[in-house]
Amino acid sequence: MITIKTDEEIELLRMAGKIVYQTHQYLKGKLKAGMTTDEIDKLAYDFIISKNATPSFLNYDGFPKTVCISINNEVVHGIPSNRIIKKGDLVSIDIGACYNGYHGDSAWTYYVGTNPPSDIARLMEGTEKALYAGLNAIKEGNRVYDISKAVEDCAKEYRLSVVRELVGHGVGKSVHEDPDVPNYVTNYKGPILRAGMVIAVEPMLNLGTRFVVLEDNDWTVSTYDGKPSAHYEHTVLVTKDGYEILTGE
Ligand code: MG
Ligand code: MG
Repeated sequence: MITIKTDEEIELLRMAGKIVYQTHQYLKGKLKAGMTTDEIDKLAYDFIISKNATPSFLNYDGFPKTVCISINNEVVHGIPSNRIIKKGDLVSIDIGACYNGYHGDSAWTYYVGTNPPSDIARLMEGTEKALYAGLNAIKEGNRVYDISKAVEDCAKEYRLSVVRELVGHGVGKSVHEDPDVPNYVTNYKGPILRAGMVIAVEPMLNLGTRFVVLEDNDWTVSTYDGKPSAHYEHTVLVTKDGYEILTGE
């Protein structure tokens, strides 16, 4: 069921989104080669708790950590561990926080070091642009299809492939609500967007094939061909004329 949020709910979703954004900024400042992904996870946990919020993903369907950290060929749902981050790694961090019962969800991909190789730079730029292309298709009266088409068109422009096994989603009292927001076009036109809906748009784009595999830990989704993947996500409020980013500044 798709819910239209009340003004009071929107205020709480703004607070949750702000905490997610601040957590990203905090981790971005800390991320460096030589750290383990567990160290980043611990920083994220302490930061979210310090904001009187709780991590949305911890114990979600049994997920054991605060954030998802997916490196290089990992697409999403990487589990923080004693893995050491290296210079040249492409690190996607997906953060969810819950404030007074309402969630925010945002992912961002960071390159560890300076001057990424040109194909990595294209992957990062193309995926971030695809996110904003999708967001720019949002306004009351448009359909979910319009978002999907804008994301897919941008991915094509950058010669990137679109992961189909995972999609964007509604956000509210649960971190994953209706509707699905795919990053590719099918016959599914999806529901009409209405002011007061809150959705997460989250392109996951690959440098190589779109196909993915599930790792033995039953969580981490990786590219089939081992090539890198990027993931950018914002939670946004649909408005009469467009959208408001809730997980931004
Ligand atoms: Mg996310
Ligand atoms: Mg999400």
